[in-house]
Amino acid sequence: TQIMSRGLPKQKPIEGVKQVIVVASGKGGVGKSTTAVNLALALAANDSSKAIGLLDVDVYGPSIPKMMNLKGTPELSPSNLMRPLLNYGIACMSMGFLVEETAPVVWRGLMVMSAVEKLLRQVDWGQLDYLVVDMPPGTGDVQLSVSQNIPISGAVIVSTPQDIALMDAHKGAEMFRKVHVPVLGLVQNMSVFQCPKCKHKTHIFGADGAKRLARTLDLDVLGDIPLHLDIREASDTGQPIVFSQPESDEAKAYLRIAAEV
Ligand code: ADP
Repeated sequence: TQIMSRGLPKQKPIEGVKQVIVVASGKGGVGKSTTAVNLALALAANDSSKAIGLLDVDVYGPSIPKMMNLKGTPELSPSNLMRPLLNYGIACMSMGFLVEETAPVVWRGLMVMSAVEKLLRQVDWGQLDYLVVDMPPGTGDVQLSVSQNIPISGAVIVSTPQDIALMDAHKGAEMFRKVHVPVLGLVQNMSVFQCPKCKHKTHIFGADGAKRLARTLDLDVLGDIPLHLDIREASDTGQPIVFSQPESDEAKAYLRIAAEV
């Protein structure tokens, strides 16, 4: 392919960051940001000695500020690097801190790439054990640029069990393979809804599509997160479920994923 024949540009680690884990998806709206946020919190909860950061490079639709209940403009360090904003013990940086909340990102490709470059290179993370990166959906310039510019320990791919989402997740997995980023596994999200009244279980988007895709691609399924009102409400109120309801089954599902990456 074109990507391969041009070879990989030289990757440079992000200063102070030991391991980078990217969270990706083929399609939007499948729960990628929710997974990234709860994964970051779960990594911290599983081992309190670890320093965790969360970088939102979903430049067109940054969700991290709202999900992590953070607002404001990053301060600059003496060496002119942006200082991450902190909540629930997680250092966060997002395009959302740099532009107005309601301002649409109507940018040409080059401007997007320079914003991504800034988010990758001009942040003072201090020392981090893990940096969780919330990618934009799909397999575009931003994903390629992140994958080619920094060493990535692994990618987690989020999908619903629906065919159309899985098709795009498949493409995402292939992209990472082409740029030599190890795919850690798939997270199946929104697989089952249990009626809170009658307890009947419904597989709204299908039952085990991600499991089938994992078999096809010889990947692990890292977790299976149900469609649950608490997960949505927790995200919308900026109190992610791993932080606000750590004893819930839903939080435990994220904690198990964190234990595997
Ligand atoms: P993406 O990053 O893939 O666009 P988000 O993480 O923003 O997706 O999730 C889209 C919406 O679905 C959000 O409102 C989020 O709170 C909700 N959501 C994600 N996962 C779940 C889940 N397992 N149960 C209920 N709501 C969910």
